[in-house]
Amino acid sequence: MEQELLSLQDEARKNLDQLTDGGQLEDFRIRYLGRKGLCSTIMRELGTVAPEERPRVGQLANTIKAEIEKLFAEKMALLGGSSSGATGATTIDLSLPGRCPEPGRLHPVTQIMTEVCSIFEALGFSVAEGPDVEQDHYNFEALNIPAHHPARDMHDTFYVSESILLRTHTSPMQARIMESQQPPLRVIAPGKVYRCDSDITHTPMFHQVEGFLVDTKVSFADLKGILTVFTQKMFDKELALRFRPSFFPFTEPSAEVDIACVICGGSGCRVCKQTGWLEILGAGMIDPEVFKMVGYDPEIYSGFAFGLGIERIAMLKYGINDIRLYYENDLRFLSQF
Ligand SMILES: [Zn+2]
Repeated sequence: MEQELLSLQDEARKNLDQLTDGGQLEDFRIRYLGRKGLCSTIMRELGTVAPEERPRVGQLANTIKAEIEKLFAEKMALLGGSSSGATGATTIDLSLPGRCPEPGRLHPVTQIMTEVCSIFEALGFSVAEGPDVEQDHYNFEALNIPAHHPARDMHDTFYVSESILLRTHTSPMQARIMESQQPPLRVIAPGKVYRCDSDITHTPMFHQVEGFLVDTKVSFADLKGILTVFTQKMFDKELALRFRPSFFPFTEPSAEVDIACVICGGSGCRVCKQTGWLEILGAGMIDPEVFKMVGYDPEIYSGFAFGLGIERIAMLKYGINDIRLYYENDLRFLSQF
């Protein structure tokens, strides 16, 4: 029996020396130290040893088993492996890189929104946010769009009740703020807006930033100056601006504002449909009727207002051709920003 134990010890040592990887290490553990391994088998056979011999042989068996376990743990540490083995030995490799959750990032719409706001904040505008669920009065009436006005056709939205709706633009904030504050005012109002529209350039929910400035002696030149600075900062280059006459019920005169194409610089390409220009926002001088409704004297005060679509700006800035990509939650798209 003693001889058997000593040769087991010898054999285990030799085997352990030849091991080179974690798989072999596990085979070794099962063969020698497992529940049905050689060590356990010998321990069970101790019962057959003569009673007077048993304490001595038993002690030797324990010593040898402990030694094999110790050598096994050392070898495991050397090979950098780990094992669920009966030895209970564990190794921690402190040089391995840690496992951490992948950091998230801001949605491209949020990024552009933040950028737009910070440009206007640097120009002295304050930021105001208003309700998405709006009264008909602020969304239409106070902006010079009475019931049955044809301009309402372009603003088909979702109604909560006859006089409560999801706002179709961020312009209601003009009326809300002018109603509660006196000029001079420089405000931008970012937020979500809603319309019954869905195609490659429209989604039922999208984002706008409304901006307006009210003071004495405000002119169209001030509007042009502010928008020129804004587009230069937003697109990181000097871009020509073009004002095309347009109509909005709450501004007079009104204009659609284009910038020189950011892709071709104005010479004509597929993005700008060979025109050299890209439509970027709507703007105009605030209509005296709007001032009268909030109790400002249009003989004393004048101002301008503009509204721009955040998704549109991001599409121009990043060259995105389908607005629906923003809301499909596809990480292959979103992780590019
Ligand atoms: Zn172009």
